Amino acid sequence: MKDRWRIRVWGVRGSGPVAEDNYLYYGGNTSCISVEWGTRMLILDAGSGLSKLGEELKRQKKVQRLDIFFSHLHLDHVLGLFDFAPFYKPEFTIHLYGEAKEGVSFEKLLKRLIGPPYWPVGFADFRAKIVLHEIGDRQCIRLSDEEDVLVRTFRARHPGGSLLYRLEGKEKCLSYMLDYEALDTPEEALLFCARKADLIIWDAGYISEDLQKGWGHSTWEQGLDFLKASQAKEIWMTHYHRRYTDEFLHQQEALAQASCAFCRFAREGMEMIL
Ligand SMILES: [Zn+2]
Ligand SMILES: [Zn+2]
Repeated sequence: MKDRWRIRVWGVRGSGPVAEDNYLYYGGNTSCISVEWGTRMLILDAGSGLSKLGEELKRQKKVQRLDIFFSHLHLDHVLGLFDFAPFYKPEFTIHLYGEAKEGVSFEKLLKRLIGPPYWPVGFADFRAKIVLHEIGDRQCIRLSDEEDVLVRTFRARHPGGSLLYRLEGKEKCLSYMLDYEALDTPEEALLFCARKADLIIWDAGYISEDLQKGWGHSTWEQGLDFLKASQAKEIWMTHYHRRYTDEFLHQQEALAQASCAFCRFAREGMEMIL
């Protein structure tokens, strides 16, 4: 089992969380995905779904090193940092990876965000060991321990820019593609991010009728085109707009599955073992 990845969904919304009856099936938290193997866990984005994951991590004793990669620092991707329980536990070592923006370092951006005057506590109050890594486009980061995992980065079209991630392990690959505004024809430069991946996690922020150019998001139809062009095996849609209720997403999922059997709409708690 130590070679296997356990991929779990903790948040599926874009822009901001929702908490209403007709959002309980897919979930109302913002973006967060975990990938666990052996005693390690890699986390993709720290949306509000991260808080629940933090509570689980606090109760267990197995995983003590966390590697959190940010696609970018828009608020829906960092909301879960404000009450992330492992920050206050000395047994944890937490590596955080993200980009500098507009000439301001990743470290400065994060420390500005988490701490006064925006929040009562900050990095100086954390008891876990924190290691910050400034990363950029076209990098390959090796996370070595019980098993080598490579993380490749790809700059994507999104207001202010974002990073997409390709995770490569022993005979398995996960592609994380949000937030990202796809073109009508899949771009060669980004197809490699998903080439022959076992799973693509895709920005299906809007349906095509609602999508506006320049907003930095994509549709499930574009995701299915990308799945085909990249020869990946399966795709999970996520980052749904807050207006899209369970009923609406059920309809969209049925439409998508009518044209592709290898497509699912992510919901909180969903998982895959690779
Ligand atoms: Zn977002
Ligand atoms: Zn964004």
